[in-house]
Amino acid sequence: MKYISTRNASLKVSASQAIISGLAPDGGLFLPESIPTVTPQFIEQLADMDYAARAAAVLGLFLDDFSAQELSDFTAAAYSAAKFPVAGTAPVVKVGDSAYILELFHGPTCAFKDFALQMLPYLLTASLRKNGVDKTVMILVATSGDTGKAALEGFAGVPGTKICVFYPHGGTSNIQRLQMTTQSGDNVMVAAVEGNFDDAQNGVKAIFTDSAYAQELAMHNCILSSANSINWGRLVPQIAYYFSAYCDLLRSGVVKMGDKINVTVPTGNFGNILAAYYARACGLPIGRLICASNRNRVLTDFIRSGVYDKNRPFYLTSSPSMDILISSNLERLLYLLCGGDVELRQLMSALQTEGKYQISGQMLENLQAVFYGGCADEAATAASIQSLYAKSGYLCDPHTAVGVHVYQEYLAASKDSTPTVIDATASPFKFCGSVLSALGQTAATDDFAMFEQIAQASGQAVPSQLAELKHKAERFTQVVQPTEMKAVVSAFAAR
Ligand SMILES: *Cc1c(COP(=O)(O)O)cnc(C)c1O
Repeated sequence: MKYISTRNASLKVSASQAIISGLAPDGGLFLPESIPTVTPQFIEQLADMDYAARAAAVLGLFLDDFSAQELSDFTAAAYSAAKFPVAGTAPVVKVGDSAYILELFHGPTCAFKDFALQMLPYLLTASLRKNGVDKTVMILVATSGDTGKAALEGFAGVPGTKICVFYPHGGTSNIQRLQMTTQSGDNVMVAAVEGNFDDAQNGVKAIFTDSAYAQELAMHNCILSSANSINWGRLVPQIAYYFSAYCDLLRSGVVKMGDKINVTVPTGNFGNILAAYYARACGLPIGRLICASNRNRVLTDFIRSGVYDKNRPFYLTSSPSMDILISSNLERLLYLLCGGDVELRQLMSALQTEGKYQISGQMLENLQAVFYGGCADEAATAASIQSLYAKSGYLCDPHTAVGVHVYQEYLAASKDSTPTVIDATASPFKFCGSVLSALGQTAATDDFAMFEQIAQASGQAVPSQLAELKHKAERFTQVVQPTEMKAVVSAFAAR
């Protein structure tokens, strides 16, 4: 199976080459030339496996230059009980008549990105070996909070790699910041950027597309790669947990083989929901994909109108990992919907020059046949945390709460009672202040005292990976301008 660029369908590379490059040289995103399909038997077999084996089988559909043995070794290591210390790895919890929470936050950083970023180092280092590349890979990450830590946690100490993370100064929670700035490992670098997430992401994109700069790095025997969700190696492990959730619902008798489920995803960069789209396209019985945004509702407006317009105010919200105005992974969906690189290039160049584009009526129809778009402002997010807790005793984080709100709205509007999986993308312990205020409790001023308050309310123990931050020293305190990001990378590469 070959991979092509969204901006040039005649550029063909293998899966491992796509994983090494991250972004295509023309600025496009890699995607498989065709989508593999599965049989009901395939899904039934998965149902009898543990999470790691399910993931290996799903990865095998897409990564045909990796052997089955390699993939099962990698998933066994990435999803071990040491990394994901909870039964089922990605358990499904019933919270309402037809609402099921898919808990994706039991990994090392308490956010769903661990599913991808615990796998990516294995996929990337194996890809380098397969292609005879004997260079240090410099992983560049722009993060709105969770990706940065999850990538650091995945790559710290991995031979042959260096990782450099940029996050928006003041744009993350205090705990998210501490998780990054206390990161151990000799091959890691973290810096805050003056600006918002898009500034950081644009800075990273500019470095990636600067060929003169690539030559400069080559002198240090370094090549660039990305751990952002634009890397196919990030996206493909996420497809697996939708299969796993379906299998769990199958096993518990909520669905029979072939019955549809819906999926609700709190969305930012459009990676997680795109993974659900791929699972659906493979033949996993998924009906609607419910795309939930926070107050930065650029995707809601897009799904409803066909106009993507990033020219609007940018809001910092209680769900900071979704504070995004340019959802990079949407480019892959657009390619699939318009079916050609020519039209796609037109849309992307309009986005570049005018900050907006409009898709055709036919594309909009195809989009709306699958996706429902909705959003939750700050008040609705808080109310949703509160009401889910009051009704079911389940305490969710603000990102998940955005999903819960939009699902409720969809349910009220559509009366569609199909069992629906709502992704819980972060642990409530990562966003204590917002969660406590939603519950009407006075939050302690100290983060670690707040952990105890959340433990009380949820009846869950404080995750040890968060509790231990109290005793760790901050190693990275640098704040830089977007124009200085290149210099940061150069200095780190030369080390
Ligand atoms: C990254 C993130 C999201 C958004 O996911 P995308 O794949 O970027 O759409 C949602 N919630 C949390 C907690 C995240 O870390």
